Amino acid sequence: MNNKTQAITVPLESMEELYQGVFLAWIGSKQIAQNAQPGQFVMVSCNNYLLRRPLAVHKVSPEKNSFAILFAVCGKGTAWLSRQKPGIELNILGPLGNSFTLVPGAQNILLVAGGLGIAPLQFAAQVAREKGKSVTLLQGASTASCVYPSTSLPDGVKCYTTTEDGSCGAHCLVTEILHDYIGWADQIMACGPNAMYHPIATSNKQLFKVKPFQVSLEARMGCGFGACYGCSIKTARGMKKVCHDGPVFDYYDILWKENPGI
Ligand SMILES: Cc1cc2nc3c(=O)[nH]c(=O)nc-3n(C[C@H](O)[C@H](O)[C@H](O)COP(=O)(O)OP(=O)(O)OC[C@H]3O[C@@H](n4cnc5c(N)ncnc54)[C@H](O)[C@@H]3O)c2cc1C
Repeated sequence: MNNKTQAITVPLESMEELYQGVFLAWIGSKQIAQNAQPGQFVMVSCNNYLLRRPLAVHKVSPEKNSFAILFAVCGKGTAWLSRQKPGIELNILGPLGNSFTLVPGAQNILLVAGGLGIAPLQFAAQVAREKGKSVTLLQGASTASCVYPSTSLPDGVKCYTTTEDGSCGAHCLVTEILHDYIGWADQIMACGPNAMYHPIATSNKQLFKVKPFQVSLEARMGCGFGACYGCSIKTARGMKKVCHDGPVFDYYDILWKENPGI
């Protein structure tokens, strides 16, 4: 057992509904605030009888020894978490998994977020801006009330929004405006529902081949640190565990057709 697989008890510092059904929580932890990298996640115990739930590190404040998670209420665990009040103690593991990495020499970083995919990408944007990179975020949501507020993004990030019903930004899927920005980008980082990645593969193959492209995958997880094999997927480099070898993968390594469940 290493540090990452030892549960820690940490104080919940704040809980607010940032936008419709999506909560931002700040949690006190020097270990996570000072060691987490963009793309990593924590496993949060949401009530004793449930398995821990994976949630991305959304922001860090090393000065305050705290980090934030951003989550949508979609089931029993996240509903329980959203009801917790500042001052209670949470039982968590982390930071877990690998991270997004900036490719040497890449200056223009294109981020593609589908829905709650913004959760780890905010942290990626923060680190890229701190290193002086130009960052453009393409954000797709179902409707205006589900759009992450651009005022919460790090300074200097350019943000373009699409919604499925046209209530905010362009009236289309985020994957449909991607081709306009690929030429500009030196590197692409994406996070969203796994269904978002399939159209990318079919419609932009030629353009993407020359760009480093990292994606964060979602999978149902048991343990979160590679012990249970519950989140294994097929890749060009053999079977990989999303929690331990990922969640960030090289887009071109994923055998999309052979992983219908992701
Ligand atoms: C590495 C990783 C990082 C994640 N980061 C975030 C994050 O930052 N913010 C966030 O809101 N969500 C994130 N998720 C998804 C989140 O873990 C699930 O939404 C959560 O576990 C649901 O728990 P629940 O008890 O509320 O829902 P459940 O009652 O377990 O399920 C409710 C619904 O959510 C779906 N669901 C459950 N788990 C997942 C999952 N892992 N991926 C996709 N759908 C799921 C179920 O199919 C079901 O339809 C992440 C998932 C992974 C693997």
